[in-house]
Amino acid sequence: MQLLSKRLESVKTSATAKIHNLVLEKRLHGDHVINLAVGESDFSTPQNIKNAAYSAIQSGYTRYTPTGGLDELKVAILNKLHKENSLSYKKSEIIICAGGKQVIFNALIATLNQDDEVIIPSPYWVSYPDIVRLCGGKPVPIKTKFETNFKITAKDLKEVLNYKTKWLVINSPSNPTGSVYTIKELTEICKILESFPDVNIISDDIYEHIIYDNLQFRNVVQINPSLKNRTLIVNGVSKSYAMTGWRIGYGAANETIIKAMLAVQSQSTSNACSISQYAAVEALEGPQDFVEKNIGIYQQRRDALVKSFSQLESIELIKPMGAFYALPSIKKLIGKCTCEGILIRSDEDFVYELLKTTGVAVIPGSAFGAKNSFRISYAVSDALLEQGCSLIVKFVRTLK
Ligand code: PLP
Repeated sequence: MQLLSKRLESVKTSATAKIHNLVLEKRLHGDHVINLAVGESDFSTPQNIKNAAYSAIQSGYTRYTPTGGLDELKVAILNKLHKENSLSYKKSEIIICAGGKQVIFNALIATLNQDDEVIIPSPYWVSYPDIVRLCGGKPVPIKTKFETNFKITAKDLKEVLNYKTKWLVINSPSNPTGSVYTIKELTEICKILESFPDVNIISDDIYEHIIYDNLQFRNVVQINPSLKNRTLIVNGVSKSYAMTGWRIGYGAANETIIKAMLAVQSQSTSNACSISQYAAVEALEGPQDFVEKNIGIYQQRRDALVKSFSQLESIELIKPMGAFYALPSIKKLIGKCTCEGILIRSDEDFVYELLKTTGVAVIPGSAFGAKNSFRISYAVSDALLEQGCSLIVKFVRTLK
């Protein structure tokens, strides 16, 4: 009998993990690596949040919590949604999970039947299609264009929506492109969704706070409240508060979806870590200056990265408007050779040769559904970013 499940056959090991392992291997050999493949902030979790965790341990809050999360954290989430997004939810419409990833997983396993379709604008976060496959559904990527800043248009959406569509995923600001939908673009998308009442929406707002040039964050529920009953808002503290390791994400949706997600969670992880939940209360309710200060720092790094790549004609880049990634196109470099005569046939070749020759790690764009590009993260120190970018520029100039 075959050991591994059929379900797993279609699921790939994440490209991010592959690069991460290569980085570790190189470091083990004593090589210096500049890791621009990371998906998390280089800042430390703020001290007040760490203190809240110490105090939770000392107070003995080390036991199971309710499956859906602590009441205190639910209240903090409701207040956040009200204050920052002018949205009002009830406690029964909130679930707290071990990261935003588990929110998505719970929702999809609770709702997808075999071959139900999930529309995913491409380039996409690596995990969306694989989570959909693991849950038995069918990912349906909508290819976006460089010319439309990697955003779907209402027309694109209309062409793929059909009676099998269960979910549409919207991630703005986006990983990996850094694109942010404008109010006008979202309004047009919402208008189309009005005519497809059976389609549900995952609004992945995890990068909500990391947004530049005074752009306003909006999600579909804010734009069109009539979609509230069929939208799952996914958010968490991982990215905004430099808390990736604490594993706290949350979902806001109608009670039916939340109840189903609770049933899944009760039979898998039970509840998110109690100590992390107390820390997350402090993140949401404590001082917010950390978030604001960091946006300024990320924006400066984004500007430095854009300036650095602007020296190269062979690399095209859309200026990211949010998150901490960019997705430069290397279409013009495919078919060129390295100094050692190695042919660059794909973005994977480019990334592996770059890592081998310069020690700079980035991720092949194909992992995100974006062939002939690479994803670079600027959630690293200014010095590392500058070093990394100039090594990339130098490497590209050696390609013939
Ligand atoms: N959504 C997007 C677009 C992400 O990039 C990530 C993490 O990289 C997540 C969700 C999940 O975040 P978490 O660490 O809270 O599970």
